[in-house]
Amino acid sequence: MTVNTLSIAIRALSRCIKCCPTSRISRRCFGASPARFYYETTKTADSSAGSPALRTVDLRSDTVTTPGPAMRRAMAEAEVGDDVFGEDPTVNELQKMAADIFGMEAALFVPTGTMSNLIAVMVHCRERGDEMIVGDLSHLHMYEQGGSAQLAGVHSTTLTTLADGTFDLDQLESKIRHGYPDAHYPRSRLVCVENTHNILGGRVLPLSFLQELRSMADKYGLVVHMDGARLMNAAVALGLQPSVILQHCHTVSACLSKGLGAPAGTMLAGSKDFIQRAVRARKALGGGMRQLGILAAAGKIALKDMPARLGEDHRNARSFAKALTQCSPPLYQVDSAAVETNIVLFRVRAPGLSPASFCELMGEVGKGEGEALGQGLRVLLFPHFGDTVRAMWHLGVSEEDTQLAAKKAQCVAQQHGLK
Ligand SMILES: *Cc1c(COP(=O)(O)O)cnc(C)c1O
Repeated sequence: MTVNTLSIAIRALSRCIKCCPTSRISRRCFGASPARFYYETTKTADSSAGSPALRTVDLRSDTVTTPGPAMRRAMAEAEVGDDVFGEDPTVNELQKMAADIFGMEAALFVPTGTMSNLIAVMVHCRERGDEMIVGDLSHLHMYEQGGSAQLAGVHSTTLTTLADGTFDLDQLESKIRHGYPDAHYPRSRLVCVENTHNILGGRVLPLSFLQELRSMADKYGLVVHMDGARLMNAAVALGLQPSVILQHCHTVSACLSKGLGAPAGTMLAGSKDFIQRAVRARKALGGGMRQLGILAAAGKIALKDMPARLGEDHRNARSFAKALTQCSPPLYQVDSAAVETNIVLFRVRAPGLSPASFCELMGEVGKGEGEALGQGLRVLLFPHFGDTVRAMWHLGVSEEDTQLAAKKAQCVAQQHGLK
């Protein structure tokens, strides 16, 4: 990553993590979870002989989820066929289900979110010299190895990602290549948005932004693709059906393997014509799989039953953020109002305690902590952009885990906070 990109990231994040407003955003969430049944209950204690009980709360990513008994049973019992021939009934059901939920004509099961975004880029930008426009802190731009250039030969131009995950539409207008078909210019073809926004901490794109973006896209003949890896989190946070959010997008990519708990898979959706071309691109990229119904069976449960429990992750994330602001002496800086879904970004304000060394402290059992917490506790976290630490909620983290992780953060504050 270049110094420039890093400074952009830091700039965006410092806008995002202002000094501790305690206001909590209240969002309408879907009801509490009936879906505990679909996954294993939280790991309580892995006690090995002789040593005291040790509990691990894994807040590194919502990709660490593992399928529970109901998903595994559905996988074991799935009716399957050769999906490259279009003959896997379970895959076909999943694709139909996804198209209905997203309000799109058709959908396609794709191995990963990265491949799904790449396919979208390949299909939308298929003439040599086509260009896509993306946020400079988007997953597509930062975390996908430049696959759009490397593998699809698509040139991209970036917009400054704002703290809420949007970008400025005047800047977008200024970046569109109005000179095409003059031979000097690429042809602006595609604009990508990310919802919720990963690097900026799960921010939900406002519907009004998407609506204005779409009008501008229509005016200039651009296509809008949404990297909706966590689309369902956005839908739950807004209390809206995904199709309402997606009315402003031509295509979407939504992960089954994150908060929705499936072992693998992403749904790519759009028009029939788009999906027909996407099937070809997927095969060229080596993503045509055969008896895929084994995975699609888990995907059906992920799409149908799991969104209802995401509100639980959002509530836990908010209560953790609140607990951080209340730690004494103060050690943490967090913008609670920016906690809209399942991600909390925070800063650790102690000289000499880098995000990486803080994560190490949280990941090991500290002295005297057993008495304070009632057991040994490891809290796994990742250092993140702009000197922040990221914590992410998912179905493997219960309310009790969240409270314990907050208590551990309090213990660390007592040891390292400035008195
Ligand atoms: C995780 C993620 C992806 C890609 O997912 P993989 O399945 O890991 O390739 C794409 N976009 C966003 C915003 C993500 O968070």
